[in-house]
Amino acid sequence: MTDRPAPPDAFAMTPIGVIESDFPDKFGIPRQPGLAEAARASLVLRSPFDDPLAVRGLEAFSHLWLTFVFHQSPERWTPLVRPPRLGGNAKVGVFASRSTHRPNRLGLSLVELLDIDTSRGVRLALRGADLVSGTPVLDLKPYLPWAESRPEARAGFAPGTPSTLPVDLSPAAEAVLARREDGASLRALILQVLAQDPRPAYRRGAEARVYGVRLRDVDVRFRARTAATGETRLEVVEIVTA
Ligand code: SAM
Repeated sequence: MTDRPAPPDAFAMTPIGVIESDFPDKFGIPRQPGLAEAARASLVLRSPFDDPLAVRGLEAFSHLWLTFVFHQSPERWTPLVRPPRLGGNAKVGVFASRSTHRPNRLGLSLVELLDIDTSRGVRLALRGADLVSGTPVLDLKPYLPWAESRPEARAGFAPGTPSTLPVDLSPAAEAVLARREDGASLRALILQVLAQDPRPAYRRGAEARVYGVRLRDVDVRFRARTAATGETRLEVVEIVTA
């Protein structure tokens, strides 16, 4: 047996920065990155990590891994979780899931890097992040497709991109978007986020309940309806400035 000391059983970590994103709330955020390409986010590095030298050369990479804390999840965890992908009832082991309720509450997201602004500190512009504003980021690393892209890998109960629903916008919602400078990008974000059907898995009957998803500075109110064809569609009934 070596006489090396046992590793510590706890590590203190300091966030290198914080996320500012289109998502003020957890509710409605797609389950994985890249499912809403119109989602904008910035990673704002904090002192002493906001040194432009620390990101020298990063601009040569198109995608980044973000390691972060699910800071809005509880610290307690359970060995079994109920993935929404399985309808919210079936249980799997927490380590067989990407659940936000996990030991150490660590998240991992692959995001697209759009720009690096070092004019005042360091701000990374990102596309497609699945993180709520305020998320503390512990580390970022460049993505290496030759080492990490494994399209042949088996993915258990989550074998592919989640199914989506068609989304309609009421004339009142369209009118609000038409008056906004960011109307086009907000419209794309609304369509992409709602297509993921943010309703809780156990509530996916065709009831007429109105839900609200906060995006940027608005509350997007929507409900499900059954079209004449029998398919379920989501309809944005109104967009209210939050
Ligand atoms: N891609 C990451 C991963 O696999 O570790 C996150 C996957 S997790 C299923 C994505 C969900 O985390 C989002 O839908 C959102 O509801 C939630 N979320 C995002 N930021 C969070 C935060 N700071 N604290 C807790 N939950 C968060």
